[in-house]
Amino acid sequence: MQILSAKNIKKSYDGTQVLNGISIEINKGEVLAIIGPSGSGKSTFLRCVTQLETVDSGEITICGETLVKNDAAGKAVYSDRASCVKIGLHIGLVFQNFNLFPHFSVLQNITEAPIRVLNKSKEEAEITALALLKKMDLSDKANAYPCQLSGGQQQRVSIARALAMNPDILFFDEPTSALDPELTGEILKVIRSLASERMTMAVVTHEMKFARDVADYVVFMDNGTIIEQGRPEQIFENTQNERTKAFLSRFN
Ligand code: ADP
Ligand code: MG
Repeated sequence: MQILSAKNIKKSYDGTQVLNGISIEINKGEVLAIIGPSGSGKSTFLRCVTQLETVDSGEITICGETLVKNDAAGKAVYSDRASCVKIGLHIGLVFQNFNLFPHFSVLQNITEAPIRVLNKSKEEAEITALALLKKMDLSDKANAYPCQLSGGQQQRVSIARALAMNPDILFFDEPTSALDPELTGEILKVIRSLASERMTMAVVTHEMKFARDVADYVVFMDNGTIIEQGRPEQIFENTQNERTKAFLSRFN
């Protein structure tokens, strides 16, 4: 079953094309790794599929529901507001800089959206949140505030917050880039364990070993274009494109 289908996504900022026709598909239970140099459009792509940005043209379908498609003139037309909101509920996003609410406790950070958006009772939301905190090995931090946590702990809270909405797909935008190597390991471990539970995920990452081990499929982007894509063995061990080779050589 297809969870995400993005076709020929184009996006410009002030006349500069940042996405030049990106097409990506993700099936249920798959992990996609998106790699590529800084400025290649990886975050913009994630922001477009998670509705933090609008596309200029292209088609995005999530869990069989069309978020946006082209009109006869090839210009993007979005579904009505109610459909966009509904489609947004299929999706979770974990940012590079955690983006927790600083004035909320860990527990409140996780229960806020389920209570407000999914109309869950406080009790029900807290039961789910505490179970997720246990899974993230943070049971003792429920009443702490974000500023009292390490970066790795904050990132695990933000993963728990995303999971609390029970998304069909989880997007990660460089989830370990703000962390030192030791804390990076603890986040990669969490993502690996979600992958082993067959959580559908798309991960923008500079962790090549992780991408090689965990991803089912790898996309290399440069300059708003997908330059090369394939299974990790193909991309990392049988690299075809010179730009991909040059990029990967920086990590050796
Ligand atoms: P990546 O995540 O691969 O580093 P981004 O998607 O952040 O790349 O950026 C792609 C390009 O789009 C860059 O040239 C960046 O400067 C530009 N860009 C990103 N966001 C904006 C914005 N809100 N306004 C103008 N330019 C932007
Ligand atoms: Mg980015």
